Amino acid sequence: MATQCAPVALSHVAGPTGVPLQHRTVGETLAAAVERWPTHTALVVVGQDVRWTYEELAARVEQLACAFLASGLRPGDRVGIWSPNCAEWVLTQFATAQAGLILVNLNPAYRVFELRFALRKTSCRALLLADSFKSSDYLGMLRDIIPELALERAGLLLSEEFPDLRLLVNLGAARAPGFLPFDALMARAAAVSSQELLEIGGALSPHDPINIQFTSGTTGTPKGATLTHYNLVNNAFFVGEGMRLTDADRVCIPVPLYHCFGMAMGVLGAVTHGAAAIFPGPSFEAQSVLTCVAKERCTVLFGVPTMFIAELEHPRFAEFDLGSLRTGIMAGAPCPIAVMRKVIDSMHMREITICYGMTETSPVSFQSSTDDPLERRVGTVGRIHPHVEVKIIEAHGDTVERGVAGELCTRGYSVMRGYWDEPERTAEAVDADGWMHTGDLAVIDDQGYCNIVGRVKDMIIRGGENVYPREIEEFLFKHPKILDVAVVGVPDSRFGEAVCAVVRLRAGVQATDEEIQAFCQGQIAHFKVPRYVRFVDEFPMTVTGKIQKFLIRDIVQRELNLRAEATA
Ligand code: AMP
Repeated sequence: MATQCAPVALSHVAGPTGVPLQHRTVGETLAAAVERWPTHTALVVVGQDVRWTYEELAARVEQLACAFLASGLRPGDRVGIWSPNCAEWVLTQFATAQAGLILVNLNPAYRVFELRFALRKTSCRALLLADSFKSSDYLGMLRDIIPELALERAGLLLSEEFPDLRLLVNLGAARAPGFLPFDALMARAAAVSSQELLEIGGALSPHDPINIQFTSGTTGTPKGATLTHYNLVNNAFFVGEGMRLTDADRVCIPVPLYHCFGMAMGVLGAVTHGAAAIFPGPSFEAQSVLTCVAKERCTVLFGVPTMFIAELEHPRFAEFDLGSLRTGIMAGAPCPIAVMRKVIDSMHMREITICYGMTETSPVSFQSSTDDPLERRVGTVGRIHPHVEVKIIEAHGDTVERGVAGELCTRGYSVMRGYWDEPERTAEAVDADGWMHTGDLAVIDDQGYCNIVGRVKDMIIRGGENVYPREIEEFLFKHPKILDVAVVGVPDSRFGEAVCAVVRLRAGVQATDEEIQAFCQGQIAHFKVPRYVRFVDEFPMTVTGKIQKFLIRDIVQRELNLRAEATA
């Protein structure tokens, strides 16, 4: 008797297209918000005494855009910004877009080597920078790479190494030769009329590149993902829709502005819905976030998982009234189920969503919905975003069946223009059919929910068995003493690789390797039980909250070698 095979469902999903994409520039998006919500609060920056309505924000943006033009900058020119979160960052974000300038986001944790590379790579004509912050002396670092600076008059720089760089603007209060104070830049606006700016704005296309964001690659030099108005405006809008954002919402943004989580999903997301963007401070601090949410009655809170962990663990957590919170986004790294549950229960974020994406895709391609069943909401990154397509492929490029892990590839309006001035690296990432190969390992189930199970490079192959670190991390999170955990593979002479769990314990508790291993025995397959357990006080992290597994791997490997040598 012939058996009939049921058709195999492949891991290829496409988002809904009912709500059309918007054909708008960033400038037009802000103008539309001002027209609809002129007197609504647009921006609050705690510590800077900034509380602006949409009208007030737009007036300052226009002034800065005119000042850029008055300083000789023209559409297509690159303008760098190197600063922790502040009101001027947001003004620069919109003013550059309005004048057709390409904003270059520089990580405030960059040091001279990376700064020199990024400024030269993008031939920046202007740089706006903080004076100093914590241990970072930004003006000093610039003087290190531009020795001519001491001799320059403000705004007339001529540097041998950076021939395009003509304007340095100091966002801070310190005064130093060669740097134009931000107020003095703003004062230049009078030389250019609003009409001139309007004409420039009118000639821009939503498909023009408007932003270069350097991605934190683990190898090689940073790559400048180049995004258009169209990429950013639409992604920000749909991220807001995913949270059911309205003009009554107040969005607390403790994530960095230089990253798409802050400037695109945060600020632009708020502007597309008339909500208020509220910054608790220049950089993340759990206490200032909790204070800000309580005081400003925020309804939305963003964060990477480690930020939420730090807030929940804060010794004074119970003192803060977080009852105003409704929704928010956890994203940027694997979101542990246990942390999601706590955020829902203890932080009142009953409609919190998880987003998954990457800078190169503007950034979001999966988002859980506010009304997905709880299990799906805490345990997956949700379903495919509108107008975006995703497939999961195996090593030869064939699409795998539902439920099978493979590399996640994204296609659609959100895929970047390319890496700035890097055609070869662009072609390695985005194939001829427009698929962005993310390097993330994922599984899509029958109903289209997606789970990120690790990075292709982080997958552990132990004795021919594929081990996905995420699965073991999720299991270890159930241990009452474990605060945070990262699972990595280390070389092993017998199995090729062995599983190593690097654990941060909760305050005041102690544990042994054997105790953690015993917790796993009989609960997860034997080959997933960590052969090694290391205890650490903190993980090496990027500013955007990603645990740097390659560094952990190096450290652990070195320690294990040392141990082997000592016992040899
Ligand atoms: P970035 O370009 O800095 O935004 O980093 C993008 C990377 O962060 C992705 O390729 C993923 O590896 C990781 N990532 C982002 N969101 C998630 C998430 N919700 N779950 C797991 N990994 C994530």
